[in-house]
Amino acid sequence: MRIGLSIGGGVSAMEQIEPRDLAADGFGSVFLACYEDEMRWHAQTAADFSRACQAAGLEVYVVPLGYGKVMDPDPSTESLYVREHRQNCQIDSRGRRVHRACPNNPAFLEWFSSNMRTLAWLLECTGFLWDEPSLYFARGAWACRCRWCQRLYFAEHQEQLPLELTAEVADFRRNSLLMFLLAAAAAIQAVDRRLVSCLMPASSASSREAGIAADALRPLGESSSVDVLSVYVPWQSENRDMETALRATYQEASAAAGHHHKDVIVWIGGSPHPRDRLLEALQVSRDAGVGHLVIAGHQTLTASVAYDRFRPSLSRMIEDVG
Ligand SMILES: [Zn+2]
Repeated sequence: MRIGLSIGGGVSAMEQIEPRDLAADGFGSVFLACYEDEMRWHAQTAADFSRACQAAGLEVYVVPLGYGKVMDPDPSTESLYVREHRQNCQIDSRGRRVHRACPNNPAFLEWFSSNMRTLAWLLECTGFLWDEPSLYFARGAWACRCRWCQRLYFAEHQEQLPLELTAEVADFRRNSLLMFLLAAAAAIQAVDRRLVSCLMPASSASSREAGIAADALRPLGESSSVDVLSVYVPWQSENRDMETALRATYQEASAAAGHHHKDVIVWIGGSPHPRDRLLEALQVSRDAGVGHLVIAGHQTLTASVAYDRFRPSLSRMIEDVG
């Protein structure tokens, strides 16, 4: 079993990490958060860090965040694209423009694809992880009802896009995101055919709300935009038993992906604190047959004050389960 570490925090985190230390601790992969607004000016820092990781023997996955706020729409992530291109943003069911670009907007799609090609050129990596792509949904209002979405829906159904979030609309939203990911995968694979496209569906929302989410994995496993299905196990925040949640999530993802001979990556939150049961979670994952486990993330684990004391037992465990 390979163990990965997700590195959020952007370039300031990259500047503090020595990839050889991670490799010495037994990590086999890193997932690098690359923010739209940072990559405009600091792409070289990310490129240098990614090269250093590869030189240390770590597999690198790029996690683009921001970029029109379709990926990981954390409200605190800024997007210059959204600020400057309001006309390409989603329109919700109350007719309001929201602060997120529309994945069906051709101008945004072109900008996004071109940015992903650039990232793929700059950062030597194994693949890209699309982190919780979603459409806007809040308090009963949903997007998108922009003219591109209306036109597409009409072309497919020969009727107007309903105001209610019907089953057809839910399918339309999911397919819109999967088509967007297909373009994203094509963009990076145009640079290097071997680049892997990994999809992480939202674990905290339903697919009706987000468009795609972990409660309906089968269509994601079927999609040709997805080479690897990635699932997060938020057992701590959901107050679930760690072992039960881990095994069940992995089995569901394997059933959805394995049918199409695709791999699964499992993510868990981790820290040196005993309540996170990280060492046990590694054993449980290995016993469940997980091939690639990623610990989220750098801030809570490797950058924490308690890490130095925890490090020897973690690296022993990584060796044991490897
Ligand atoms: Zn739209």
